[in-house]
Amino acid sequence: MTSPARKQLPTPTPETAPYWEGAKAHELRLQHCNDCDKPFFYPRIFCPICLGDNVEWKAMSGKGTLLTYVLSARPAPGFEEELPYAIAIVKLDEGPHLMSNIVETEITPENLPAGMALEVVFDDVNETISLPKFRPAS
Ligand SMILES: [Zn+2]
Repeated sequence: MTSPARKQLPTPTPETAPYWEGAKAHELRLQHCNDCDKPFFYPRIFCPICLGDNVEWKAMSGKGTLLTYVLSARPAPGFEEELPYAIAIVKLDEGPHLMSNIVETEITPENLPAGMALEVVFDDVNETISLPKFRPAS
C-alpha cells in the first residue's frame, strides 16, 4: 500500500516571506506602493502599476468579495479528503485579487453567489505556514 500523497505547501522566498509571516500572525499583509498609493499582489520588488520601488508591507482588512470560483471534483494529490472544494478568486476590499479556498460553508453553487461578502481566516498548517482562506462574512 502506498502512503497518501501530501499536500504541497508554499516555500517562502525573500520576496514572499513578509506575506507568510503576516499569515502566521493571522494578518493579511500585502505590499503597498507609496508612490501611487495602491496595494498590489503578488509580492514583487516594484509596483506593477507605476513601477516605483517605494513599497512597503501593510495589513489589509481581510474583507473582500467572491469574484468567481471553480468547484473541484477531481482532487489534486493530497486534497482527496477535502472534496468538494472551491478554488476561488477573491477581490479584496482594498482592490487586489487573491486565489484562495472558501471554507466554513457547504460548498455548493447555491452557497457561493458571485459578489458574496467574505472575510479571511487562517489555516495553521504547520509551524511556519498558515494559509489565508475565506469564509462568508459574519
Ligand atoms: Zn505605484
